[in-house]
Amino acid sequence: MGRGESTFFHVILTTECNLQCTYCFGEAIEDVDPDFPDSEVDYHLPRIISYGTETLDRFCRQDPDCVLTFYGGEPLLQIDKVKSIMDNVHTKHFMIQTNGLFLNGLEPEYVNRFHTILVSLDGDEDTTDSFRGKGTFRKVINNLKLIRKNGFEGEVIARMTIMEPIDVYKQVNWLLGNAEFLFSSVHWQLNAGFWKNDFQRRKFHEWISQSYNPGIHSLAKSWVDRMADRGVVLRLYPFLGIAQSFLEGETQNMLRCGGGWANYAIQTDGYIVPCPTMWGMKNYYLGHIDSANPLNLKQIFVGEPCSNCDILDICGGRCLYANITKRWDKEAYASVCDTVRNLIESISEQTPRIRNLIKEQKINPKSFEYMKYNGCEIIP
Ligand code: SF4
Ligand code: SF4
Repeated sequence: MGRGESTFFHVILTTECNLQCTYCFGEAIEDVDPDFPDSEVDYHLPRIISYGTETLDRFCRQDPDCVLTFYGGEPLLQIDKVKSIMDNVHTKHFMIQTNGLFLNGLEPEYVNRFHTILVSLDGDEDTTDSFRGKGTFRKVINNLKLIRKNGFEGEVIARMTIMEPIDVYKQVNWLLGNAEFLFSSVHWQLNAGFWKNDFQRRKFHEWISQSYNPGIHSLAKSWVDRMADRGVVLRLYPFLGIAQSFLEGETQNMLRCGGGWANYAIQTDGYIVPCPTMWGMKNYYLGHIDSANPLNLKQIFVGEPCSNCDILDICGGRCLYANITKRWDKEAYASVCDTVRNLIESISEQTPRIRNLIKEQKINPKSFEYMKYNGCEIIP
């Protein structure tokens, strides 16, 4: 699989966030031993961008197909910077990953230019608010209704962070079928392998075997049932990416998120890293936007255990950050790989049905196409 036409960059606009979500803020406090193998870490990045917009423009102009995704912290804490970059930097597309709370503060003339908005929600109101704070859900949903009313026609992707006790089957179906705001695009990522001390405290293993894995299996079936009943291919990104590979007979031995080879991140100080989570890891700095060429950046690949895995050619490696930093030990991470196997098997099992539906012209094979490296990692 090639990198495609565009290079993608997460632009970290600020290191600050206005929320204190359990799986991010809470864990960062507990992660008191931030030693990273083989890398010196710069913990003192500027709070906001310290390079000039014209430097970013010069960098992007070297690749006319460059795609920028605003990222943080929470990028809409820097609304003026968002506008200034959208006014002055030449790109193919702009996208944003946001918690959605300040979307009402950005004028429609800017919002409506986003190709895609990825908004953090974990499912229904109780679930979202229990992780992200009371009132978050209502505010985000109101903002999403507002941007649609104001003419936003691009893709809105609900980006879920999943961990125990979330019932993935129930919550994804809630997003797809509720009376508040109907999502047709959903992505989820497991909170797994990112923090040093959490596995021992959590019940991750029990949760994946009793809830998450069976939930994914049922969800894959209901995804294809919906294709058969209504001719609709919902954009459940983890399913979409793997199904597309099966349908096209494509192998995938590079990270499906694009981290380190197709989708990079620009820190607030202008240094380029393989992925936003690798901010400050000096040994992985790939150049600075004042001198680097976006079309000629070094590529970083996953190592053990992924490099020797029997399903690397369909998984692609899940996560470079987790692979490099090894925050979870081998046994703990094996549980994560079990979820990958289960996901792949669940889609593989449904693929003959999908092929039949295509053959019978009940669904269009083009419905499985998507913009790769749009911020959905595919492998949760
Ligand atoms: S299943 Fe696990 S070990 Fe195998 S490629 Fe994926 S993340 Fe790596
Ligand atoms: S999966 Fe890992 S490497 Fe890829 S974008 Fe997410 S955190 Fe970065």
